[in-house]
Amino acid sequence: MEEKLTDIFAIDVFNDAKMAERLPKKTYAALKKTIENGEDLDSGVAEIVANAMKDWAIDRGATHYTHWFQPMTGITAEKHDSFISPTSDGKIIMEFSGKELVKGEPDASSFPSGGLRATFEARGYTAWDCTSPAFLRETSAGVTLCIPTAFCSYTGEALDMKTPLLRSMEAISKQAVRICRLFGNEDVNKVTTSVGPEQEYFLVDKAKYLKRDDLIFTGRTLFGAMPPKGQEMDDHYYGSLTERVASFMGELNTELWKMGVAAKTQHNEAAPAQHELAPIFTTGNIATDHNQLIMECMKKVANRHGLACLLHEKPFAGVNGSGKHNNWSLLTNTGKNLLEPGKTPHENIQFLLFFAAVLQAVDEHPELLRISASNPGNDHRLGGNEAPPAIISVYVGSQLEDVLNQLIETGEARSCKDGGRFNVGVHTIPEFKKDAADRNRTSPFAFTGNKFEFRMVASSMSVAMTNTVLNTIVADVLKDMADELESADNFDLAVHDLIKKSCTDHNRIVFNGNGYSEEWVKEANKRGLPNIRTMVDAIPALTTDKTIELFGKHHVFNSNELHSRSEVLYESYSKTINIEARTMIYMTNQQYIPAVIKYTRCLADSINSIKQALPDANVEVQKELLQETLNFLSQAELANKELLIQVSVAVSKKDGVERATYFKDMVIPAMNNLRVIIDSLELIVDKELWPVPTYGELLFEI
Ligand code: ADP
Ligand code: MG
Repeated sequence: MEEKLTDIFAIDVFNDAKMAERLPKKTYAALKKTIENGEDLDSGVAEIVANAMKDWAIDRGATHYTHWFQPMTGITAEKHDSFISPTSDGKIIMEFSGKELVKGEPDASSFPSGGLRATFEARGYTAWDCTSPAFLRETSAGVTLCIPTAFCSYTGEALDMKTPLLRSMEAISKQAVRICRLFGNEDVNKVTTSVGPEQEYFLVDKAKYLKRDDLIFTGRTLFGAMPPKGQEMDDHYYGSLTERVASFMGELNTELWKMGVAAKTQHNEAAPAQHELAPIFTTGNIATDHNQLIMECMKKVANRHGLACLLHEKPFAGVNGSGKHNNWSLLTNTGKNLLEPGKTPHENIQFLLFFAAVLQAVDEHPELLRISASNPGNDHRLGGNEAPPAIISVYVGSQLEDVLNQLIETGEARSCKDGGRFNVGVHTIPEFKKDAADRNRTSPFAFTGNKFEFRMVASSMSVAMTNTVLNTIVADVLKDMADELESADNFDLAVHDLIKKSCTDHNRIVFNGNGYSEEWVKEANKRGLPNIRTMVDAIPALTTDKTIELFGKHHVFNSNELHSRSEVLYESYSKTINIEARTMIYMTNQQYIPAVIKYTRCLADSINSIKQALPDANVEVQKELLQETLNFLSQAELANKELLIQVSVAVSKKDGVERATYFKDMVIPAMNNLRVIIDSLELIVDKELWPVPTYGELLFEI
């Protein structure tokens, strides 16, 4: 297995090793300069790279290539072209030019642009992102060479998730390098972000999935009463895998490994039918690409095993939903993790500065982190008793909290708490050194040893925006710090003052307690930390003057690009809730009400036939049930009509903000109302007559 894995890992990636092997030395060196230092790519070089890439791809069976990009839909897009080119003698040759590698021209008008592109000015370009390696993907259609690209409009505005991410990586590198140089690290000339996104997901039986229109149309169950058992036994988390799930995971790993995705950890998660996959971290934009591949691959492989993979944040009410943990750190080109505290964090001034910069950035821009993790699905999670609360705070652990407190009180940290030895009291179990801090699962933003873990991200979302925000807000703080330190007379003194001031001013963001508790909500309010409960409430933060200035200063988004994103978000919110509401109405009319009517007829028939056979028989139970069912039935009918009315009002609103707000304030409560009634009916109607698989069947029978 060991050997096989090393053979197949990245076999389908045109990575550094393959480039070194297949490119002329000079071309390879030139391309490396572009990849590593961002130098312009010469068209002659592109021509040679394209040819080598094509030859490699064809050797591995490829017939097509595609520019693979990430429009603002949050999923990836591609259009396939074959390599064939006709010759004058009626045959074909396989061709792929430098131009085709570097630039594509999809019709930009069919992707969400938030007003950046009108249908009559449709030109958009995809441009090769040579920092993320090209790879091969196999489907029933054959093998395709996928070229990761950025997607921009004719005027150069970003129409995708990746362009701003790449820009933000440049921004943070620039500022972090300045700081490293101030500490005498002259050999540092680039700092990249390392990202490891942990992905949670559910698996359900495909045949049952296909019987639920809500799962098909919206990715979540819109109805469903809780089964007698939920997740209260804690018997699924880390539980042993069923054969079916294990074979799914095995195949998924192999597919991912071939594409160079370093899938590492897999286990059952807290909720029944919930699982997690974590890859080994890699460079920010590659990790973002890989996360998209992971999600796509999960769906595809699940299908082959008669399963459906649900990436929705809250596929089932009443049990945990899914999130994505964005582990993030800063790595220099010399291989140093800038968030590694070492054994004596209190003496590691460079670490403390970077650490303080992240705390400050989070405290200055919590609203931006919040919106970067917002989608309609995550509204069901954040603030519920499972996922992080909607309030952003940072967990730093007891060791660093102690260091921070010393810094705040005296301006200097003289000591640091050690983790100590760990002894379980059994001689045959070896003693080992404890971590310096315990874990805190309730914190939305936690320092976990040598990286920060942002836990709010929605499971189905791209991590691009989250990292774009994180990179930019930290870059901004680092810029101010570098400005100040570069002009200081006494660097040592200045850096101490700076760390002390930053930690003191932003200490309110540090919270090591239970983030799920009611007290924390009150305490956070006192501290002035925002508690933004819904996506619609979070969107305005994208277009404030403060935000426009921030992103403008670091050339990550211009004002138009920010406004377009805000527009896309309002629109996608309204569309999502509209689809959900319409699915509910449809299911109620087409499935639930007819089933309930059937049941009432059964009851009535039973009463009548018993009475006929035995005039004195007691049919009170049936009568009561019939009455109760009829009551719910009329309530359901009313609630369904009300929902239809609310949806019609919502869609009639012309203004995007007003429309989304109406969906949130009026349509969602009407949906909840209808759901409660149907779920009550589910618990009294004959199971044989219930038209869709129940929660029990979906969650426990796989
Ligand atoms: P846990 O569930 O305990 O948080 P996992 O092992 O499931 O831990 O996931 C941790 C993730 O953090 C992995 O993807 C891992 O590669 C990533 N990670 C570890 N170190 C770093 C780092 N320096 N920068 C970014 N990500 C990291
Ligand atoms: Mg994990």
